[in-house]
Amino acid sequence: MSSRLAARSIDHVVLERGEVANTWRTERWDSLTLLTPNWQSRLPGFGYEGDDPDGFRTMPETIAFLEGYAKRVSPPLQTHCPVTAVRRTADGYEVVAAQGTWHCRAVVLATGAFNIAQVPAVAAAVPPGIAQLTTAQYRNPQQLEAGGVMVVGAAASGAQIADEIHRSGRPVTLAVGEHVRAPRTYRGRDIQWWMDVSGLNDERYDKVENLRRARALSSFQIAGYRDRRNIDLNALTSLGVNLVGRLAGIREGKAQLSGSLRNLCELADLKQNRLLKTFDEWAAANGASEAVDPPHRPEPTRLEASPPLGLDFARAGIRTILWATGFRPDYAWLEVPVLDAKGNIRHDGGVVTEAPGLYVMGLPFLRRRKSSLIDGAGDDARDLSAHLAAHLGARATELAN
Ligand SMILES: Cc1cc2nc3c(=O)[nH]c(=O)nc-3n(C[C@H](O)[C@H](O)[C@H](O)COP(=O)(O)OP(=O)(O)OC[C@H]3O[C@@H](n4cnc5c(N)ncnc54)[C@H](O)[C@@H]3O)c2cc1C
Repeated sequence: MSSRLAARSIDHVVLERGEVANTWRTERWDSLTLLTPNWQSRLPGFGYEGDDPDGFRTMPETIAFLEGYAKRVSPPLQTHCPVTAVRRTADGYEVVAAQGTWHCRAVVLATGAFNIAQVPAVAAAVPPGIAQLTTAQYRNPQQLEAGGVMVVGAAASGAQIADEIHRSGRPVTLAVGEHVRAPRTYRGRDIQWWMDVSGLNDERYDKVENLRRARALSSFQIAGYRDRRNIDLNALTSLGVNLVGRLAGIREGKAQLSGSLRNLCELADLKQNRLLKTFDEWAAANGASEAVDPPHRPEPTRLEASPPLGLDFARAGIRTILWATGFRPDYAWLEVPVLDAKGNIRHDGGVVTEAPGLYVMGLPFLRRRKSSLIDGAGDDARDLSAHLAAHLGARATELAN
């Protein structure tokens, strides 16, 4: 956004509570690699130039990439400058931060979608003696006590961490709710290649059938490992991970597990096959069928005949619960009444219509399916900076008259 504003000669400042690439420095586990391939983890005019376009960046590489981009665009940046309040004023906004107060006509909130780990209320009933941590606190298996681990949530983070912890010798039980299954590679091409060429990543927020649902969808159950292996539930079962239903409650030291596991897995299988069919249709319609491998369908998710409805933490030897149950944004400092009952900003493709001059970026499906990816920032910033420039223009005309 800063580079787009600079291109339009709009005077601005970027306030960052930490450093460039702060979330990648402070909120990610050690072994994490991007799940978007190198060629795709790009910013405008700043792509991948190395010799492994299909590889996946490690955290140090991701930090270096963002530092490189910051060096290239050289934004007017104030680091170590947490914003503590944003308020409306007669002609714009007042932004209060550690290093001073700014008065401005427009504010772009680019504080991220993943600020606060969403831990379900049931966490309060976890028996004492069982350690609890979130994916933002998790660094590596050595940080955990020996013994069993229950990972709650099977989106990308939960599945990757379950895989890593189980391989470290700590038996993992994975509590599985609704999830989005996808293969890393399909017909010899990366899933993100298909998402890109088929246009699905560019699908717009005002064209998608059910926007509320699209915005709430969890991430693909994939990882960016060097061997490109899948981490779907079948891969985890083969590894020895114990799959159970969604953690619905805890009573007297026992987990109550939802009976919906089979249905949710069937639904995830069905949706995966629907996605692969979309790719097949795209390939056929675009003369690409011969250039890729033949179509195939992954094996349906394998489950025990009757997955358990309860689990005694002590008897199962569970010493740690790891909450991989998602995140929500933190707007505690936003004193403009634009939040809905769940604490999310009401916006139309990033334009906060109830508060002219206020914009938001980096949220799931903000303007496009790719909006919460690194790759989504460029197009969204282009659109929103155009709107912002028009707003400033209109405001200037208003003030002059
Ligand atoms: C586990 C995980 C894996 C991911 N993997 C990928 C991936 O493989 N590929 C991909 O493209 N994307 C991935 N993402 C998404 C990615 O992290 C970003 O969310 C996305 O790139 C949007 O970036 P952003 O700058 O909008 O948000 P963020 O990266 O969250 O940055 C927000 C910034 O705002 C700062 N900030 C917050 N509050 C304040 C405040 N009050 N005052 C001042 N500064 C503040 C933060 O310090 C931070 O630097 C992943 C996210 C997670 C959580």
